[in-house]
Amino acid sequence: MKRYDYFILGQGIAGSLLAWKLLQNGKSVLVIDDVKGPGASQVAAGMFNPIVFKRLNFSWNAHSFLPIAKKLYEELEFSLAGKWWFEMPLARFFGDQFTADQFEREQHKAPMGDYLSMEPDEELDQIRSGFGYGIVKHAGYVDVSSMLGSIRKYLTEHEAFVDALANESDFDFSNEGVVFKGFHAAELICCNGFGVKKWHAWKHVPVVGAKGEVLHLTGQGYVQKYILNNGKFILPIGKNEFRAGSTYEWRDLSLAPTEGAKNEILKKLKNLMSEDLKVTDVKVGIRPTSKDRRPILGNHPNNPKLKIFNGLGTRGVIIAPAMVDWYCDNLLHGTPLPSEVDVCRFNKYFQ
Ligand SMILES: Cc1cc2nc3c(=O)[nH]c(=O)nc-3n(C[C@H](O)[C@H](O)[C@H](O)COP(=O)(O)OP(=O)(O)OC[C@H]3O[C@@H](n4cnc5c(N)ncnc54)[C@H](O)[C@@H]3O)c2cc1C
Repeated sequence: MKRYDYFILGQGIAGSLLAWKLLQNGKSVLVIDDVKGPGASQVAAGMFNPIVFKRLNFSWNAHSFLPIAKKLYEELEFSLAGKWWFEMPLARFFGDQFTADQFEREQHKAPMGDYLSMEPDEELDQIRSGFGYGIVKHAGYVDVSSMLGSIRKYLTEHEAFVDALANESDFDFSNEGVVFKGFHAAELICCNGFGVKKWHAWKHVPVVGAKGEVLHLTGQGYVQKYILNNGKFILPIGKNEFRAGSTYEWRDLSLAPTEGAKNEILKKLKNLMSEDLKVTDVKVGIRPTSKDRRPILGNHPNNPKLKIFNGLGTRGVIIAPAMVDWYCDNLLHGTPLPSEVDVCRFNKYFQ
């Protein structure tokens, strides 16, 4: 029986990118995923946007994480002969004069000036909006579902994937390593997103679920070459298809779509959407966020063979590649994890 270096539980963005990087570094992995089960990555709109509009500054480390993300997604495209990294500017429509003025000022300052512009565009000028718009240049989206499909195919071809629903009690830990349904590995890394809430061993780790809904629309939109955003977004993905969203809900964590979420998105986007667009599908998922809004990586406090890679939150697309680099440096070379992402920051809650 083959003995793997790592079991990776979960084939969302976290488990997929981590598995890829470990394989590239000569390690063996077996990724375990319940293919029909719910996962945030499969429903994510996949957008990346380095700017937080509320404060008009960068999201956490965005200007250093973005090039790392681009490099990894393009490496995957090349190796797996696919296309999922799409750069597309984002047009932010202002809700008031204050935010328009703030954007105008920031576009002249370094390093924001490399990312923001108020260059007019004929197509965008046709959209009715009282306070105008500004452009975020280095934005876009990853077709996450397509990328995960290609990674799964690659893993399957390399005997590194098994489709199974795995409960905590299915893993037996001993001094020799971990056994799961007849498979052996030295260690287990939990990349199971919100599924980690069912794990007793991780109950001290405050992963917080944020339900989100994304609409899929078909028809003639206003523009094809910009993501439009006014608090909600509408993202053209080609061939008269669009994604629009999204919503945040912390109490109802069911996977059922709601009329309320649909109406919230459509109402907010009314001015940015042509009447020709029709909703054809609604996708629902639970984002695995953390209390302090930082990823969660590292070792279980009393079982060094049990590890976690979670808490990617609302911006998994931009954050995950850098976290994979940090975590692989830790696993392969013993480089300490930055304290802000190390799961040991929650050890005080462990009993
Ligand atoms: C509606 C919505 C829109 C989003 N839009 C964006 C966006 O535009 N940009 C962005 O950057 N981020 C977005 N996100 C957030 C992003 O999806 C997450 O940050 C990211 O997907 C988290 O990845 P993950 O691999 O940690 O978790 P997941 O994707 O949830 O993966 C966990 C995996 O574990 C598997 N699993 C769990 N339990 C078990 C079990 N018991 N047995 C076997 N397998 C199991 C699941 O099947 C799943 O495949 C969005 C999320 C949602 C819900």
